[in-house]
Amino acid sequence: MSTETLVGEYFASGTLSGLPSGHFIDGTFVAASGGRTMETFDPGAARPYHAFAAGDAGDVDRAVAAARQAQRAWGRTKASARGAVLLRVAELIRAEAARLAVVESLDSGKALQEAEGDVAGAARCFEYYAGAADKIQGDTFPLGVDYIGYSIEEPVGVTAHVIPWNYPLSTAARSIAPALAAGCTVVAKPAEQTPLTALMLADILARAGLPAGVCNVVTGTGAEAGGPLVAHPDVRHVTFTGSVPTGIRVMQSAAANVTSVVLELGGKSPVVVMADADMGAAVEGVLGAIYENAGQICSAGSRLVVERGVHAELVERLAKRAASLRLGHGLRRPQVGALSSAAHLDKVAGYVEGARARGVTIAAGGRRATDPQSGAGWFFQPTILDAVTADDPVIQEEIFGPVLSVQVVDGEEEAVAVANGTDFGLVAGIYTSDFGRAHRMARDIDAGQVYINEYFAGGIEVPFGGNKLSGFGREKGFAALRSYTRTKSLTAKIG
Ligand code: NAD
Repeated sequence: MSTETLVGEYFASGTLSGLPSGHFIDGTFVAASGGRTMETFDPGAARPYHAFAAGDAGDVDRAVAAARQAQRAWGRTKASARGAVLLRVAELIRAEAARLAVVESLDSGKALQEAEGDVAGAARCFEYYAGAADKIQGDTFPLGVDYIGYSIEEPVGVTAHVIPWNYPLSTAARSIAPALAAGCTVVAKPAEQTPLTALMLADILARAGLPAGVCNVVTGTGAEAGGPLVAHPDVRHVTFTGSVPTGIRVMQSAAANVTSVVLELGGKSPVVVMADADMGAAVEGVLGAIYENAGQICSAGSRLVVERGVHAELVERLAKRAASLRLGHGLRRPQVGALSSAAHLDKVAGYVEGARARGVTIAAGGRRATDPQSGAGWFFQPTILDAVTADDPVIQEEIFGPVLSVQVVDGEEEAVAVANGTDFGLVAGIYTSDFGRAHRMARDIDAGQVYINEYFAGGIEVPFGGNKLSGFGREKGFAALRSYTRTKSLTAKIG
């Protein structure tokens, strides 16, 4: 079905036909064992449009048991055969991209063209790890002629994947694909705000030939479904993406079973613009860094660290552009979509109200908004808070909305110090035309990834993850595979 037909169906009927409702366990959709459901909302219209299974510990037990049962055979499936399944997944995602993108936009509130990009990225992710599956290999050790020593990389076993609401499909893809490539089985728990595309992905995986039980999805709240999953003694690794407090709880639960974790916990990432930068590129980079997905990105460039000489000019240009960005329902392809929930909108608005009360200059936006066509939805204007002091909460805390906070600096050394001046360390952007300076600053900025002269440059090939409170461990690239394999060393005396 075409995108236009699907969008037409939604606006005519208020929902879409054929949306998944149950958990996906052991190769099939099943109702919650407790029979309970909950609703998912269209953030662009602030209304519920579909009910899905509200899972609990009983459902998690069923899913983990299915994954455990499937582990031995999947782990022993020839690596190239695992890769072939993942390649078919990539093909199916591309074949069904229109439906996936419409559902992703509807469930999360993001602009349809961004959801289309996420779907393309998810396909690319399965393609990448399809190619990686048969390149996971061990090592040999030089013990002398009377010995042989070698290692093999085994799958760790059942893995749990706790997915956030800001990039529901692409976060699921980037953590599930390497796990499957390595021979692990999966139980995923999508966010309760955005459960649908992870369920659709599990169905695609099954249709691509993944054996029953290898990838399971349990929906429900973090407390009722996520908590039991990360505390389950049969889970051998947890990949978690979300907030810092929840990440700490997840790590504590996993610790009780000595289960490994990767934590991807967001950030307060700086975009540093030096006076020698190409201002046109900097304007585009800063706008994309904070207003894409309405700022609901762990790696959003939410702080502009700008050299004094270009501060006034840059903020003026950014403010003009921010004010001109078109908000609207995601399916109408706006430049900025909705925030994911009413509670999240309240949180974002609260930060800006707090800044206003403290006398911070609001150079653009600063107010709640609605979809101009319907007058409904959870929106916030693209906002710029200018010349903010380093200790202000809008500098130190993750807002996770379309709010840029500006810090003015003098020179390279202060720029690096200010860039490093929060408890987070996920990514950073640097705009400068001085090659040596770019690399000196990149060396000294404490972040898991540094972009030079193009924010978000990169793709699935590049390892991604944070330092400090942004978490640890890396997703994407070959680095991600390390979470899903364990090294077994073998040594033998032969002479
Ligand atoms: P959250 O951390 O509570 O939720 C993320 C995921 O964890 C969801 O799937 C949720 O159901 C699950 N979860 C919640 N409690 C759990 C528990 N005790 N055990 C296991 N799983 C649990 O995040 P949120 O409340 O949806 O959002 C709050 C803030 O988190 C946001 O404002 C933002 O700052 C941050 N966030 C960051 C990212 C990111 O990409 N790093 C994504 C989403 C949210």
